[in-house]
Amino acid sequence: PFITLEGIDGAGKTSHLSWLADKLRARGVEVVVTREPGGTPLGEKLREILLAEPMHVETEALLMFAARREHLDRVILPALARGAYVVSDRFTDASFAYQCGGRGIAESRLRILEDWVQAGLQPDLTLLFDVEVSVAAQRLAANASLDRFEQEQQDFFERVRAMYLHRAEQYPARFRIIRTDRSLDEIRATLDPIIAAI
Ligand code: C5P
Ligand code: MG
Repeated sequence: PFITLEGIDGAGKTSHLSWLADKLRARGVEVVVTREPGGTPLGEKLREILLAEPMHVETEALLMFAARREHLDRVILPALARGAYVVSDRFTDASFAYQCGGRGIAESRLRILEDWVQAGLQPDLTLLFDVEVSVAAQRLAANASLDRFEQEQQDFFERVRAMYLHRAEQYPARFRIIRTDRSLDEIRATLDPIIAAI
């Protein structure tokens, strides 16, 4: 099974990653935890560039998918083939949310890249960690250093969030929305039955 975590910066998705992986490991299965952009040596180099270097929006989209191609080939597909669970901190929904919703690239362009790079592979479960942009911004403000994306204005994140919610409506079979304006325990209690079902 392929599980992805999504949400705007500051929504809190990464806080749940290791808890989620441990929960799955308790079943005695192999769990591969990874992230995008990144997840491979080349992907992590691309991540550094993507998070720091200003660039044309289409360059950004292409590098995201280049990193993803490598990630699929080296990590995700081999893991799924041997029956492991793969838990990825972001995947293609982030490209639609950030590069299409946030930056305005045509959805049709991203669909071409998606078909090319993924050849039909989609996550089995996508956990969308959702919270108001103002709340996420407050959480980000506590961070010492913000990357190129996290420095964007609130209207950017409103568009990113709207696209995430739109995709959740478009693909209800795999999306679950987790509100994160609650305590960690409440969020885990919401996640428990969702995880149990996969
Ligand atoms: O650690 P985090 O998941 O927040 O880092 C990834 C960063 O890259 C995010 O800030 C997100 O805005 C950005 N990103 C993106 N498009 C993707 C994947 C990630 O803009 N397809
Ligand atoms: Mg971030």
